[in-house]
Amino acid sequence: MPATIEPDDSDVLLVVDLQPDFMPGGALAVAEGDTVVPLANALMQKFAHVVLTQDWHPPGHASFASTHGAAPFATKSLPYGDQTLWPDHCVQGSAGAALHPELDTDTPFLILRKGMRGHVDSYSAFVEADGKTTTGLAALLRARGVERVFCCGLATDFCVAFSALDARAAGFATYVVEDACRAIDADGSLDAAWARMNAAEVWRIQSREILG
Ligand SMILES: [Zn+2]
Repeated sequence: MPATIEPDDSDVLLVVDLQPDFMPGGALAVAEGDTVVPLANALMQKFAHVVLTQDWHPPGHASFASTHGAAPFATKSLPYGDQTLWPDHCVQGSAGAALHPELDTDTPFLILRKGMRGHVDSYSAFVEADGKTTTGLAALLRARGVERVFCCGLATDFCVAFSALDARAAGFATYVVEDACRAIDADGSLDAAWARMNAAEVWRIQSREILG
């Protein structure tokens, strides 16, 4: 099947959080997360602009259950809103926080680390969980002439969805490459994320539409 989407200079591929801690066997494993890596590498070759994100938390981060003496996957009310509490993951400098060893790190022009401030999480590559602290990514992409954002990576229902929704809110036409993502899918979170993305006109596509 021929590709129906041919990325040009106004398109960016955003590759979200392909790190060992999110892979099978990792601290916050996403089922089949490793299967996304070769697809992400193939997609990168189609784009003039590629950005990788890297979840990158200091020890004792606000999103860690251990920080609050709570059970993982509980919800905690923090000053900026409700925060799902996760097992310790992607601690700065740890092996689990590295980029996946098979991920193409030569092609991207930017590796954006997020969640670096201890008291606030950031699922999104664009805006931290306080809803107001920008990473600067939207302005940078606009300065490079980007109009469409294509997202892939982990996890569909958290960091990919939040990034896609914020890209849309920043005015970009936004696409999620569904088969180049995998989800955590806790308590219906995947369906809920797609409902929010559909409502925001974030388009769901498949990698074959770009790769052919
Ligand atoms: Zn995190």
